[in-house]
Amino acid sequence: MSERRSILIIYTGGTIGMQTGASNEGLVPVHFSELIRNLPELNLLDCNIDHLTLEPPKDSSSIEADDWLRLRQVILDRAETYFGFVVLHGTDTMSFSASMLSFLLLNLRKPIVFTGSQLPLGTLRTDAKENLITAIEIASAIHNEAPLLQEVAIYFEYKLYRANRSTKVNAHHFKAFDSPNYPWLMRSGVHMEIQYDLLLRPSAVWRDEFEHKTLKKSVYVLKLYPNIPDAFFEIDFPNAEALILETFGSGNSMERPSLISFLKRAAEQNLPIINVSQCLGGSVEMGRYASSNAFVSTGVINGRDMTTEAALAKAHYLVALETPYSDFKSRFETPLCGEISVK
Ligand code: ASP
Repeated sequence: MSERRSILIIYTGGTIGMQTGASNEGLVPVHFSELIRNLPELNLLDCNIDHLTLEPPKDSSSIEADDWLRLRQVILDRAETYFGFVVLHGTDTMSFSASMLSFLLLNLRKPIVFTGSQLPLGTLRTDAKENLITAIEIASAIHNEAPLLQEVAIYFEYKLYRANRSTKVNAHHFKAFDSPNYPWLMRSGVHMEIQYDLLLRPSAVWRDEFEHKTLKKSVYVLKLYPNIPDAFFEIDFPNAEALILETFGSGNSMERPSLISFLKRAAEQNLPIINVSQCLGGSVEMGRYASSNAFVSTGVINGRDMTTEAALAKAHYLVALETPYSDFKSRFETPLCGEISVK
């Protein structure tokens, strides 16, 4: 393990690689080879660094399932060649993509660090340099002769978070991400603080469950709010294979006949419904209040302390694996890669 480690930077787009486009159209992604010229510091790092662009680089608001699958394939095809991967991604949907990749690369045991920035790389006060340089350092770090990081994570503004616990919390501050229900994994300061006990150490071995599988557009998210029209509960969600319900507080809802009929109909039609909270911190506790009893009696899945991003990713994953309705609840409620706290 003493030879120089190789890291692959995969550029997908996002502010980090954007410049103002022609005719005032706003920030648009540019090619990474142009950007890297602004970063002579990369030559000082003690690892070999290659880069490739996932064409075309995108504002992450336009990221779709095909991009997740391509990213997964790029990493898998090069997993033998590279010690670790740094994925440059827009911040807007970074937590969605990084959560999805944590399932698509379940048990790969490779360092995969997503990062980006709030200001483009070429600008004077940019946060991009620190984010990128430290992300590379983390992706190339070893511990006990193995990669220090063996999971998908997000590094942003001095902290490393588990990908599937992260969420974007701020559009203006450099501290754009947080992980409200799981502590940070590493914190960069004069020294790197590492919470060794919190790092994921997959016990299962990598198996390509996804070969020949695809991710469908069949997962819905419905956010409850006071005075929501009954019409929402009468919609026949086309081709739905899972539905995430963002509920109040510890997993509560209005006690409304239209919602109860909707839940019963979903159960009859074998449509898994997942209860996650609109609160950033804390956990769903179905049955604590009478206002969540309908969820218990109709077999709704307890998303406990999962983020919506992670629940969406996990639902896509279980749907893609053709998980039968009878197994969906138990598989969903069991942690696969640190995305949900054990009761
Ligand atoms: N709109 C940008 C994106 O997500 C924002 C960013 O990168 O910070 O691609």
